[in-house]
Amino acid sequence: YHSLRPAVPLPPPSQPLSIIQYVLSLLHSPTTAASSALSTTPFLIDSTTGRRLTYSTFLQQVASLSSSLKALRPSLSKKDAAFVLSPPSLHIPVLYFSLLSLGVAVSPSNPLSSPSELAHQIRLSKPAVIFATSETSHKLPPDIPVILLDSPQFLSMLESKASGSTYDAGVNQSDTAAILYSSGTTGKVKGVVITHRSLIAVIAGFYHNKLATDEEENTHPVSLFTLPLFHVFGFFMLMRAASLGESVVLMEKFDFVKMLEAVERHRVTYIPVTPPLVVAMTKSDLVAKYDLSSLQVLGCGGAPLGKEVSGRFREKFPQVEILQGYGLTESSGGATRTIGPEEATRHGSAGRLSENMEAKIVDPQTGEALPPGQRGELWLRGPAIMKGYAGDDAATAATLDSEGWLKTGDLCYFDSDGFLFIVDRLKELIKYKAYQVPPAELEHLLQSIPEVADAAVIPYPDEEAGQIPMAYVVRKPGSTISAAEIMDSIAKQVAPYKRIRRLAFINSIPKSPAGKILRRELVTHACSTTSSK
Ligand code: AMP
Repeated sequence: YHSLRPAVPLPPPSQPLSIIQYVLSLLHSPTTAASSALSTTPFLIDSTTGRRLTYSTFLQQVASLSSSLKALRPSLSKKDAAFVLSPPSLHIPVLYFSLLSLGVAVSPSNPLSSPSELAHQIRLSKPAVIFATSETSHKLPPDIPVILLDSPQFLSMLESKASGSTYDAGVNQSDTAAILYSSGTTGKVKGVVITHRSLIAVIAGFYHNKLATDEEENTHPVSLFTLPLFHVFGFFMLMRAASLGESVVLMEKFDFVKMLEAVERHRVTYIPVTPPLVVAMTKSDLVAKYDLSSLQVLGCGGAPLGKEVSGRFREKFPQVEILQGYGLTESSGGATRTIGPEEATRHGSAGRLSENMEAKIVDPQTGEALPPGQRGELWLRGPAIMKGYAGDDAATAATLDSEGWLKTGDLCYFDSDGFLFIVDRLKELIKYKAYQVPPAELEHLLQSIPEVADAAVIPYPDEEAGQIPMAYVVRKPGSTISAAEIMDSIAKQVAPYKRIRRLAFINSIPKSPAGKILRRELVTHACSTTSSK
């Protein structure tokens, strides 16, 4: 399957170009509405304090910070990686843009990660420096230099006088732009290597096929980010907003009521969301208390959005269009999306292939490519696909074949009009509120509890969260360890969203002759019986 969208030209691959140079070339282009008003158009707005950074101030801060980072001793340069551990704040986009302009790979992590999760990620990305906050830094290993984003040192770096040009660090498109974390189709968390070119490809698509709201002359597009900036969705949406000269309202901590207040106060037109937020808006009576009339579009992705939920949402908010998108960290976020009111009426579909993206639906048993209407594993190919997993050739080879096809681990079909429908997940991944929960990681922790003989972790359906992690545990003979004791023990070791929220004891874990956990059998079992919550 080829993208049905008009082909979008990309710069020649050999041209040295960072994603930031590319984004700024779009921002400055005369066809971008904000290009003539950069000193007055806010790029970033802090929803808590109301503080704003206009595009001009933002770019000055990027120039100052890049210059200060170059002057660091030992200096930070092309091919280094920088780890970032912070809640969203106005400093984060400045930091990302500065690092990317210098060719330093950005490796952001969830600030809720536990020390052992962070240690694993840091082993993968091998950062030269870590940017953290006074609240997050205590979880970091001691042997890598840390710069605190809330320290006077960092603030002075934002204000220092820039020397030399900021954007001509000689970054090649094939250089690593980001190392993001994903467990892929199986096993532990891996570092997804995304190049400048991959991000350029994603942004080019969004820029050239803008939303209808981007073109309405009387409304300045304002998006509200409830998304974490460490996840690929938030990462590329930030670049997208900058390329189009839009304003972005950032929330340091998600809070439903504060989100509604922010929509009213800042006349928000667009919210990129994950399905739990659509569920919350559909169920809440509070929404009636706020003036949400500015809201035109919700762009939903990251996990499946139930057809019934989107139906209920449309009844309640007839003026708001829900556009859907599907992607993976490994595809730099974008793979399919719906554009415009007509495509949005294909309820239940994740949209059509993004610009410059190819796909195959492959029979998981025979490897045969399947025609429209037939279900199989979705494979993707195109410039937005990752380079591979950092330092893990075996995992890379298992996921990317020699022709460049990415095996997504998602069971899907295309209809005859090129719309993608996601039916199920073949891979091990659990998505709790669209956050990744790798079952293998929890199984490993369960198996290290002395009274546990064996364990398996599966997704259990949940309306609010999409899925919750559920464990099946085989106790050692004579053990009386309780479900609560086991769940508490795991909760102490993982980020809160990875907690096991349901547990059942079982006599043995069903396995294939090769020893692979038969998760599907357990899912069927879980959904047909009641277990202790
Ligand atoms: P991540 O790498 O965290 O973005 O997770 C990617 C996975 O999330 C995909 O492989 C899918 O299993 C799931 N996913 C993302 N977007 C959607 C969507 N629109 N519908 C269904 N599943 C989705």
